[in-house]
Amino acid sequence: MVQKVYVTRRVPEAGLTMVSKGCDAEIWEAETPVPRDVLLEKVADVEGLYCLLTEQVDEALLDAAPRLRVVSNYAVGYNNIDVAACTARGIPVGNTPGVLTDTTADFAFALLMSAARRVTEGVTYVQDGKWVTWGPKLLLGVDVYGATLGIVGFGRIGQAVARRARGFDMRVLAYDPYSVPQGLDPDLAQLVDLDTLLAESDFVSVHVPLTAETERFVGMREFAKMKPSAILINTARGPVVDPDALLSALVEGRIAGAALDVTEPEPLPFDHPLVTLPNCIVTPHIASASVATRNKMAVIAAENLLAGLEGSRLPHCVNPEVYGPRL
Ligand code: NAD
Repeated sequence: MVQKVYVTRRVPEAGLTMVSKGCDAEIWEAETPVPRDVLLEKVADVEGLYCLLTEQVDEALLDAAPRLRVVSNYAVGYNNIDVAACTARGIPVGNTPGVLTDTTADFAFALLMSAARRVTEGVTYVQDGKWVTWGPKLLLGVDVYGATLGIVGFGRIGQAVARRARGFDMRVLAYDPYSVPQGLDPDLAQLVDLDTLLAESDFVSVHVPLTAETERFVGMREFAKMKPSAILINTARGPVVDPDALLSALVEGRIAGAALDVTEPEPLPFDHPLVTLPNCIVTPHIASASVATRNKMAVIAAENLLAGLEGSRLPHCVNPEVYGPRL
C-alpha cells in the first residue's frame, strides 16, 4: 500500500518529485506556514512528515499523528523538533547537514563585509538621492583584512567561515568546548576561551545550534566584554542572541554594529528598532538560500523521508539511538 506523507511547503522540485513518486504526498501549497490546527489535522493518518523549521514537532503533534514513522526536516538545525519525544516513540528524525555549509559560510562572510564596509547603508544613500559628490569622510567603515574574527561554535559552518577569513589575512579565534576538530590545522584558528574571544575580536560570528544551553548565549555580559568597535554576526538561530540586550548594546554604543540573518521573533516586524537602526543589518533567514544548495537540501530531506518509510536507516539521522546500539 502507498504510504501517506505530508509536506509542509513547496520545496524545490528535485525533492518533491522523489517524494511524490515514492508515496502518496499531500503538500501545503501556500507560501506562509501551514496553520497549527490544519497541520494537526493533516498528520492524523500520515506515516511520514517532511517539514520546515516553521513547524513545531512536539508531543502534541506526535499525539495527533499515531501512524508517524519518520520526521524529515528541511534544514540542518532541528531546534523546532522535540527530538527526545520522537526518540521515545521510535521515530527517526532527519536533517540536511553538510550541503549548506559553504553556502551559509559565504553568507556569514557577506554580512561581515557588508557591516564592516557599510554596503547596505551605501545602497540606501544612493537610492535616497543623497549622493552628490565623492566625500573624504563619506560612509567610513573598518577594514576586514588583518582584523580579528572570533567564531563561536567551531563546527562545519564555523570552520568554513574560518577558511574564508584566511583569504583576508584575518587572525581567527574560535570557541567550542564540545568538539575540537581532529587534526585541526593550527593556521586555521586559535582555540580560546569565550571571554578571550569576546575581548579580542573585531568581528564575532555565531555558529552554534540552538539548544537549551545556547538560548540567549550572547547577552548583556557578553556585549560588555566585547570591544566598542566590534561587530556581531548571527547566522545561527535568532534566540541565541538576546534581542533586548543587543538593541541596548547597539543604541548605547557598547558594540559598533550587528548583522543578523536570524532574529527573534521571525519575521521581525519591518518597523522593529533592530531593522531601522543604521548600524544593524537584518536579512530574512536566507544564509542557505542558493539555488544549488536548496535543491540539494530538498533531495537529502526526500532521501531521509523515503528511507524512514521503508524502515531503513536515515542517511542523515539526528537521533541514531532509535536504532539501538550499533553491533
Ligand atoms: P555543527 O553541529 O557542525 O556545528 C555546531 C558547533 O557548535 C559544534 O562544533 C558544537 O560543538 C558547537 N557548540 C554547541 N554548543 C556550543 C556552545 N554552548 N558553545 C560553543 N560551541 C558550541 O553545525 P553546523 O552545520 O555548523 O550548523 C550550525 C547551526 O547553524 C545550525 O544548528 C543551524 O541552526 C544554523 N544554520 C543556519 C542557517 C541559516 O539559514 N541562517 C543555515 C544553516 C545552519
